Amino acid sequence: MRIILCDNYEELSKKAAKIVASQITLKPDSVLGLATGSTPVGMYNELAKMYRQGELDFSEVKTFNLDEYYPIKKKNKQSYDYFMRENLFSKINIKNENIHIPNGETENPQKECEDYEKQIKANGGVDLQILGIGRNGHIGFNEPDASLNSFTHLTNLTENTIKANSRFFDSFDDVPKQALTMGISTILNAKKIILLASGASKRKVVSELINGGINTNIPATMLKTHPDVVLVCDRESYSGAKLGIDIGGTNIKMAVIDQNDIVYKSNFKTEDTEEKIMQSLTEKILSLKSSLDITTVGIGTPGIIKEGRVTATNLPFSDTPLESEIAEKTGLCVTVDNDANCAALGEVIFGSTKDCDNIVLVTLGTGVGGGIIMNRQILHSKNNMGEIGHFVIQAENGRPCPCGQTGCWEQYCSMTAFIKDAKDAAMKNPDSILYKMMKNDTLTGEDIFKSMDKGCPVAKKVFDDYIRYLAMGINSLVNIFGPDAIVLAGGVTRQGDKLLNPLKKLIKSDVRLEISTLQNDAGSLGAAML
Ligand SMILES: [Zn+2]
Repeated sequence: MRIILCDNYEELSKKAAKIVASQITLKPDSVLGLATGSTPVGMYNELAKMYRQGELDFSEVKTFNLDEYYPIKKKNKQSYDYFMRENLFSKINIKNENIHIPNGETENPQKECEDYEKQIKANGGVDLQILGIGRNGHIGFNEPDASLNSFTHLTNLTENTIKANSRFFDSFDDVPKQALTMGISTILNAKKIILLASGASKRKVVSELINGGINTNIPATMLKTHPDVVLVCDRESYSGAKLGIDIGGTNIKMAVIDQNDIVYKSNFKTEDTEEKIMQSLTEKILSLKSSLDITTVGIGTPGIIKEGRVTATNLPFSDTPLESEIAEKTGLCVTVDNDANCAALGEVIFGSTKDCDNIVLVTLGTGVGGGIIMNRQILHSKNNMGEIGHFVIQAENGRPCPCGQTGCWEQYCSMTAFIKDAKDAAMKNPDSILYKMMKNDTLTGEDIFKSMDKGCPVAKKVFDDYIRYLAMGINSLVNIFGPDAIVLAGGVTRQGDKLLNPLKKLIKSDVRLEISTLQNDAGSLGAAML
């Protein structure tokens, strides 16, 4: 089952209509299986709009509706016949003889059902079946526990369904007690099926559909046996637990968020081949999926991401279809984004800046990276390059950068640059405390701060220069993006106020300057919220 997750009902209606439209465009005489209920109404409106705008032609299209009350008069406003004419058929150029709806006025329901099946067959079968899903998992009038393998048949409605539908009738007694409905076999014979789910009331059944097995008590789960089903749903109907994965060069971190609480965290080794990484991710996701009721997976990874395909230099990914492959192997909705973007999202949702709408995260590590959050969403550049470490802060005689420019911020403010500068200064001043701190020709960030604490002027000069460069970059970021806060992360930020206080003096605006409270967890937490 493929899942298309939409932000809201409007998007769901548009996406579903697009699938129907491409079916009709590819095969103008398509046979459509149609459903009633409130969920598909938005999709029908979109289809009618496409017809009005001359984008779609229904003149050769044939339709078969899923079900109809029995007995009921066609002119009764509660009949599905009336519903379909009102919501779709009267708004498009479909021919009357191409419309098929089980006849609720028939005197011989048995024969009506047999004829209906024959007509579907005579028209070559249903090309695309549209379905809604009931709260208890019913599709059409195939109620839980009904004979699930049947073709079009007359069925008794359960008391729950009669009660639920009585809101459309004058009274409980006015609701027909039976219905004519395509059977599960009729539905499964369709070449392609799209299932629509919208709203929080469908959350439980959607989660069961994704995570549960095939169960006759939830008729919709029978759809899992069909090879081409697309679930189009909105976020309200699809909000089980969210799994976030942060792929790093040495470790992969996972976090599961349920209702904004972190309910699970783990950490495992990053394998050394693309295939092994895919395999370990799939195994871990599948083992968490059912136990924690997971519905979405977000993955943060270093590198450049284009349409879910990843190319990264420090991982065995080269145009790797991470998003589609993990989605296919796990049956979950998967989104992939850059790891720094995920970390920034994690900071604005779970970190000390969760009261902010706009932040810039600056990670000071081997390089300088980060992510930009505007209106609590990741700011994506068109080609996914948004590399904040690579704007130039030194125009004259700037240090060369592997990106091809000279004088990039990263060449002055990464931990690598900070330590290299300290080492160079120490080598030039063999009498300094900093020089004495060196062991086997190496220095750590800690050593620089320790030397300063002991009054080393050489270390102090290195640090002051570092802070000056850091402030220069931050001031530029503030000028460009005007964020509410700048969040700093990375090993050097463990120094806390020793880093923050001198830096604040050089920041020209009243932007909030914070040190990440999430640090290495920001990526997996943010990925979960993609
Ligand atoms: Zn650069």
